[in-house]
Amino acid sequence: MASWPIGADDGALRTVTYSTRTMGTVGGVILVTPDSTVAAADAFAAHAAFRLVDSLMSNWTTTSEVARLNREAWPDATPVQRDVARVLTTALAIGRASDGAFDVTVEPVVRAWGFLGGTPDVPSDSAVAAAFRHVGSDKLEFDAARGALRFREAGVRIDLGGIAKGYAVDAAADSLRSRGIPSALVDVSGNMTALGRPPGAAGWRIGVRDPRDRMPYFARLTLTNESIATSGKYEQFVASDGGTYGHIIDPRSGRPAEGLISVTVLAKRAMSADAWGTALFVLGPEAARRKARERDDIAAILVTPGENGVDTVWVERPIADRLQLVEDAGRFFRVRTF
Ligand code: AMP
Ligand code: MG
Repeated sequence: MASWPIGADDGALRTVTYSTRTMGTVGGVILVTPDSTVAAADAFAAHAAFRLVDSLMSNWTTTSEVARLNREAWPDATPVQRDVARVLTTALAIGRASDGAFDVTVEPVVRAWGFLGGTPDVPSDSAVAAAFRHVGSDKLEFDAARGALRFREAGVRIDLGGIAKGYAVDAAADSLRSRGIPSALVDVSGNMTALGRPPGAAGWRIGVRDPRDRMPYFARLTLTNESIATSGKYEQFVASDGGTYGHIIDPRSGRPAEGLISVTVLAKRAMSADAWGTALFVLGPEAARRKARERDDIAAILVTPGENGVDTVWVERPIADRLQLVEDAGRFFRVRTF
């Protein structure tokens, strides 16, 4: 006969949050358990998945697999680790599907703006032009079958910062599923996957962040067995001469993307939600609406800046009924469907 812990544990299910620092930000899982000690092993498995992806794909260290590829994929091809190959395959596919808006070769321009391992600052036009010459997925030779990558010229580099957090969330969620966990919320900095639902609820309630931080979140959504990601200018930006320049670069111009202040994407997998969030942000309001409408595998919520402090929230019709504005949000947002 086994013995059971007694005391605080009364057998009732509750949600317990296990947070950690990962990928330069905060990540974590919420698990449903009667006993937070027993569930800790599941949380650590999820955290280990974050750590593995970080160690492979970090764009902030010289020791990651991506940093090694950036040093060694020219002039000769170099083998690509399996998880990195998977992410690269999806990144290139979403690059094509987004008409080039998502492009992992933007690295030199992101670096020129100081968003990678530097202090963000407005670079000179000549510095941007020099970096921009090496941008373009046509400069990559990726053999997915062999798992080998080659850069077609010196100076080409890749940055998986727009997709790796989503992959880390998928990896953690897969690890929880394989441990038989039916219900959990996995989150790395707003890239989330909802597994099942908390006890007695229709799903996991998620807040959509106010891109201007006037309130913690302006709307709520309930998720079950799907993923969400938000891309915005508020994460990292340079302010100069009254303008703000975000860390998401338009690979077609070499300039920070403009037009939207935030993009939220719903998709089955967190990796797709993450990459499409970045891609739609680059596309800007009109093209993003068109692209989201045209694709059945994503649904989008876009925020465009408005007059007199009232921004516009554009919600794609199939999810319009699910988005609930919080009480005070009416002062700052008007909602339109598309
Ligand atoms: P996210 O927060 O997911 O939108 O990712 C932003 C990060 O993606 C930036 O910090 C860059 O590292 C990288 N990035 C910037 N512009 C692009 C782009 N056009 N395509 C792919 N990745 C990008
Ligand atoms: Mg992204």
